[in-house]
Amino acid sequence: MPIARILAIGDELVLGRTVDSNSTFLARLLGDLGFYVDQVRQSGDDETGIVRAMAALAEGASLVVCTGGLGPTADDRTRHALTRLLQAELVESAPAWRSIKAAWGQLRPGVIVPEINRQQALIPRGTTWLANDRGTAPGILVRGPTTFICLPGVPHEMKAMAERALARRLGITGLVKPAVTEVYFSGIGESTAQERIGDLFTASDPQVGITVNERGHITLRVIGRRSQAEARALELAARLTEHVLPEPGLAPSVVAALNHRAWTIAVAESCTCGHLTAQLGALPGVSAVLRGGVVAYHETVKRQVLGVPAPMLRRHGAVSAAVVASMAEGVRKLFATDLALATSGVAGPDGGSPEKPVGLVWLACATTAGTVTRSVRIAGSRERVQARAASAALQLAWDVLNGRTAPENAAH
Ligand code: ATP
Ligand code: MG
Repeated sequence: MPIARILAIGDELVLGRTVDSNSTFLARLLGDLGFYVDQVRQSGDDETGIVRAMAALAEGASLVVCTGGLGPTADDRTRHALTRLLQAELVESAPAWRSIKAAWGQLRPGVIVPEINRQQALIPRGTTWLANDRGTAPGILVRGPTTFICLPGVPHEMKAMAERALARRLGITGLVKPAVTEVYFSGIGESTAQERIGDLFTASDPQVGITVNERGHITLRVIGRRSQAEARALELAARLTEHVLPEPGLAPSVVAALNHRAWTIAVAESCTCGHLTAQLGALPGVSAVLRGGVVAYHETVKRQVLGVPAPMLRRHGAVSAAVVASMAEGVRKLFATDLALATSGVAGPDGGSPEKPVGLVWLACATTAGTVTRSVRIAGSRERVQARAASAALQLAWDVLNGRTAPENAAH
């Protein structure tokens, strides 16, 4: 695969004032087109620094895409840096100047273009200007052993120009639109995954990447030629069979399984306060299976709405196997569903005790076959505990739906 690299230019980027979203966009676009992006760099507005970065990135690359520094002000040095790199001369492009005047006229009818903007028509001799139909700054294209494309920094201008310029592929050969295949799985940690499939993680042909989602599921991404990518994805899935999800994530997999059985679901949430219902509710078509949910935060609600017995609450406390099971059974009865989930835990940051520390969450899944409970310990902020607890509840439902948790031996 031809190598492409990205250079994002701007003091605001290296000073951490602006998130470099242009690089993310470009990396994805270039990857989708069949380039192998192996480096993304940022440079401040210093001209010498930009020249150095451009020279280093050009080494061995088919394409370098730069963004930023094409404005009309003194700190916009990209065109000067490129001119120095090419040891060329900075000359005015007549068509670029005409396009700047036309763009200016459209944006501010009747106002004369300030002389300072004329600078934006300067390009190194022998290079090509690229039209910008959303702003005044034209881009610059240099064809050669390494093709350079310089684009403005304003994200919406940059995106439109990048898509147009790169769609032409600029005579770069060897581009094959890669196939992207994803395998989703859950219920297994990243390090266990590494142990079981580490030898299949190749950097190219096909390229295998792993991403751990905040929701707690893992995505394996295989990028390469279609036949190779598909074969590798099958190999990966075969090694992790029992953990593979049919849909991209736990919630859609659970909903698909419920749909398949024509089962309905209800939810009783204490510590997750709606996160679980929200994860389900985010899915289109969930109305076929989701009956409703109760946020039973206060003990009174657990008792009065879900029917959790007061002595049970007193004896075990709200964060316990007995109470969470009773909550699931209560909400299942209340909404007359086939399956019900419940959560009760210590979301923190305060309220933990030696027996019930922050991050301890009890989960229950009730069906006609009985009720299964499970406890998990989740580290991190309140937000993380809530989000992960919701995912852990979905994992429990997934295990129950797949017959991997027998009611009698799973309670603990
Ligand atoms: P022009 O687009 O006028 O040629 P420029 O290319 O130097 O100028 P700037 O004036 O530096 O662009 O930035 C314009 C806007 O685009 C600013 O709001 C800046 O924060 C934003 N921007 C620049 N580079 C990036 C980047 N890599 N990612 C996200 N936003 C960016
Ligand atoms: Mg800038």
